[in-house]
Amino acid sequence: MISVTLQEQVDLQAFNTLGVSAVAEFYCQVNSAQGLAEASDWASDRNIPITLLGGGSNVVLQPTIAGLVIHNQIMGLQCDPHDEHSTLVSVGAGESWHDTVRTTLERGLYGLENLSLIPGTVGAAPVQNIGAYGVEVKDHFWRLTAFDRFAREWVTCDSAFCQFAYRDSVFKRSPGRYLISEVSFLLSHRFEPVLSYGPLAALQPTAGNALTGIQVSDHICALRSQKLPNPAELPNAGSFFKNPVVDVAQFQRLKQTFPDLVAYEVPEGVKLAAGWLIDQAGFKGYRDPDTGVGMHSEQALVLVNPKHADATAIFKTVAMIQQAIQRRYGVALEVEPVLIG
Ligand SMILES: Cc1cc2nc3c(=O)[nH]c(=O)nc-3n(C[C@H](O)[C@H](O)[C@H](O)COP(=O)(O)OP(=O)(O)OC[C@H]3O[C@@H](n4cnc5c(N)ncnc54)[C@H](O)[C@@H]3O)c2cc1C
Repeated sequence: MISVTLQEQVDLQAFNTLGVSAVAEFYCQVNSAQGLAEASDWASDRNIPITLLGGGSNVVLQPTIAGLVIHNQIMGLQCDPHDEHSTLVSVGAGESWHDTVRTTLERGLYGLENLSLIPGTVGAAPVQNIGAYGVEVKDHFWRLTAFDRFAREWVTCDSAFCQFAYRDSVFKRSPGRYLISEVSFLLSHRFEPVLSYGPLAALQPTAGNALTGIQVSDHICALRSQKLPNPAELPNAGSFFKNPVVDVAQFQRLKQTFPDLVAYEVPEGVKLAAGWLIDQAGFKGYRDPDTGVGMHSEQALVLVNPKHADATAIFKTVAMIQQAIQRRYGVALEVEPVLIG
């Protein structure tokens, strides 16, 4: 017996920001942790795969998705005192990420402001350790609750368990195993802005002119709206490639040939700006003449899909760009969204 409503042959085009048409063999929405576990067990008993879908803003869907697609609608937000400096905020995995950021700021809880306007759900945020403007979700993460499909039991995962890295975590590396139902963040009562990222420098507080978390959030929303296409108008999944990390020797060789190369040091080596590599290779504004798939004219790192082409068409353009970047710079570009189906 299962309390969630199962449907068959459901088109997911409206549920992914690339606007790809994809039919799920089975589909259900869950609005409770219990429903999530029930849906998971239903699929496990029949030995069929599961895809957990949030806002669909970081996936490329194949035309048919075998098995059960669970659409996460688990809501709720609870604040609990942690100590005199901070509050623990526990959020249902189906809540909108951006709405959660704004709610915390309105309650005087700080830390998530630089992650404003990232699309998608709270449950997906730890999956790729979302990041923007010098902050990553791991910086304010406390713990999460997930259903472990393999063990068929609930687990509580702390930061060490999650193995957060750049756009990566244990959840991204073990797809379909952990179904996240709730995420908790430790947020500060004191606003300490992170303004190290170039475009935020204009916000430096001056004497007599205090800065608020809401102001930082508003500024970031304005910057992002200028730079990134709205998926409702131009289907996309945000940055399509990760910024590649190379060793110092390779960076120095590249810098000799490309003196303007945009890059910054990280503990593992030097991280190159993938958008710059793609732009300088001539693909900014590129569109495939048949499918329309291409790179955004304002931000070369964003793949756009104006004609709602399918995953095959998307990966044809992706492969062409990856090969061109490999030939020109000797650098491998890794895809950021998850291929499903
Ligand atoms: C315009 C635009 C801008 C973006 N900007 C950024 C940015 O600045 N920084 C950034 O990091 N990302 C960015 N993204 C990518 C995307 O918004 C994030 O990765 C977001 O966290 C995805 O959330 P989602 O709910 O849409 O996940 P989905 O796309 O639905 O799922 C992504 C993956 O997570 C898994 N998943 C989803 N929910 C759960 C869950 N509850 N438990 C376990 N697994 C789950 C899915 O199975 C899938 O593998 C951007 C995307 C767009 C379209």
